[in-house]
Amino acid sequence: MNVRFSTEHQAFRDSIRRFLDDNLDDELRMAQRNCPGIFLDYEYNIRWHRILHKQGWVAPAWPLEYGGTGWDLTQRYLWTRETTLAGAPSLAPMGLGMCGPMLIGHGSEAQKRYYLPRILSGEDYWCQGYSEPASGSDLASLKLNARLEGDHYLLNGSKIWTTHAHVANRMFCLVRTDDSGRPQQGITFVLLDMDSPGVSVEPIVFASGTHEVNQVFFDDVRVPVSNRVGAHNEGWSVAKYLLEFERGGGGTAAQQSALDRVRRFAATVPVDGASLLEQRAFKTQLDRTSIELEAVQQTELRIMAALSRGQNPGPESSIMKNLGANLGQRITELALEAAGVAALAHQPWQAGDNSPPIGPPGSATTFPRYFNLRASSIAGGTNEVQKNIVAKLVLGL
Ligand SMILES: Cc1cc2nc3c(=O)[nH]c(=O)nc-3n(C[C@H](O)[C@H](O)[C@H](O)COP(=O)(O)OP(=O)(O)OC[C@H]3O[C@@H](n4cnc5c(N)ncnc54)[C@H](O)[C@@H]3O)c2cc1C
Repeated sequence: MNVRFSTEHQAFRDSIRRFLDDNLDDELRMAQRNCPGIFLDYEYNIRWHRILHKQGWVAPAWPLEYGGTGWDLTQRYLWTRETTLAGAPSLAPMGLGMCGPMLIGHGSEAQKRYYLPRILSGEDYWCQGYSEPASGSDLASLKLNARLEGDHYLLNGSKIWTTHAHVANRMFCLVRTDDSGRPQQGITFVLLDMDSPGVSVEPIVFASGTHEVNQVFFDDVRVPVSNRVGAHNEGWSVAKYLLEFERGGGGTAAQQSALDRVRRFAATVPVDGASLLEQRAFKTQLDRTSIELEAVQQTELRIMAALSRGQNPGPESSIMKNLGANLGQRITELALEAAGVAALAHQPWQAGDNSPPIGPPGSATTFPRYFNLRASSIAGGTNEVQKNIVAKLVLGL
C-alpha cells in the first residue's frame, strides 16, 4: 500500500520529528530499548510523561475539552508511528488510558476537575485494583469487603497482580458492598490513596526476574464516600466500561517495528549458505505474522476512529486484545528463533542507536521479553474470556 500524506500532515510529521530530536534523549531511548518487561520503570515513564505534558501532547486520545490534542486520525497515527520508530518510551496506561477515560465517562464533575489534571501532569500515578486471589476471570465474584460507615467506606481484604502498585500513589478499585444478590450487583467502584493507613504492598517477582506486579492488602482502610465513582452497589458497569479502554489496543506500531527488526536480523543469520530469512519455514511464519498484524492494525484504527468521535471502544476491543496478545507473543518467539543462542548474550544499547525497542534479537532483552510476553494472554482478561465476550456481545451467540 502506498500511503501519501497531505502537505499539512507531512508538516505535522516534521514537527513531531523536530520535537523528538529536541526532547528524546539517549537515556530515555536506552531505558525503553532495554526494558525487559511490559511496563517501563516509573522513573523513565514519568520523565517522558512530563515532557509530553509540557508540550500538551500527553493524552492524544482524550477529548480536547479535557486536555486532549484534538488531532485527527492521521495525526494520531503519525504520532504513534514516529514516536515508536524513534524508540520513545511507552507511557503507563493505568492513568491516561484507563482511569482518565473512565472518569470522563462516569466521574462526577468534582472528580473530573480534581483528578484529570493530575493524571495529565503525572502528579498522580495509578494502579488497577480489580483482580483478587480467588477472582480473576470470574471478576464479579470479588470479595474485598467495604462497609459503609457514615461518610466513608472501611475496606478489608486483598488485591493481587496489581501492576506498579509499588510506585503508584492512587488506585482505582472494585469493592464488595453487598453480597445478597447476583454477584454483579453489590460491587462499588472507588478511588483511593495508596498512602492511606492500612494499605500495604508486597512484591511478586516474575520468573524473568522483573518486578511489575504486587499483592496489596487492606486492613481497615478508610475511603471517603466522595471517592466513589457511580452509585453505591453499581460499580460493575463502570468497571466494564473501563475494561473496554484497557483492551482497546494501541500497541501495533511497536509490534510492527519489532517484526521489521526480526526480519532485518534474520537476513543476517547464515543458514546452509543462505540466510534464515530465505528459509521457507521461517519466512512463511514471518509473512503470516505480518498479514495478521495488518488485520489487527485495521481493528485498532477502527477503535481509534470511534474514540475520536467521542465513543467508547465497545466489545470489539476484546478482539483487539486477543489478537494483539497472540501477535506480541509470536513476534517474541520469532525473535528468539532468529537469535538462537545469541538471545542469551548481553549486547547493551549504544548511544546513537535509534532502532526500535521490543526485545530485538540478540539483545539483553530478547529472553526476558519472551518470558514476560507469555503473560499478555492473561493480563487484562485471558484470551478465553475475550472469546466468550466476542461470542456473546459481537456475534450474539
Ligand atoms: C502481568 C500481569 C499483570 C496484571 N496486572 C493486573 C492489574 O494491574 N490489576 C488487576 O486487577 N489485575 C491484573 N492482572 C490479573 C489479570 O487480570 C488476571 O490474571 C486475569 O484476569 C486471569 O485471572 P486469573 O489469573 O485468576 O486466572 P483464572 O481466572 O483462574 O483462569 C485460569 C484459566 O481458566 C480459564 N478460564 C477461566 N474462566 C473461563 C471461562 N469462563 N471460559 C473459558 N476459560 C476460562 C482462563 O482463561 C485461564 O486459562 C494481571 C495479570 C498479569 C499476568
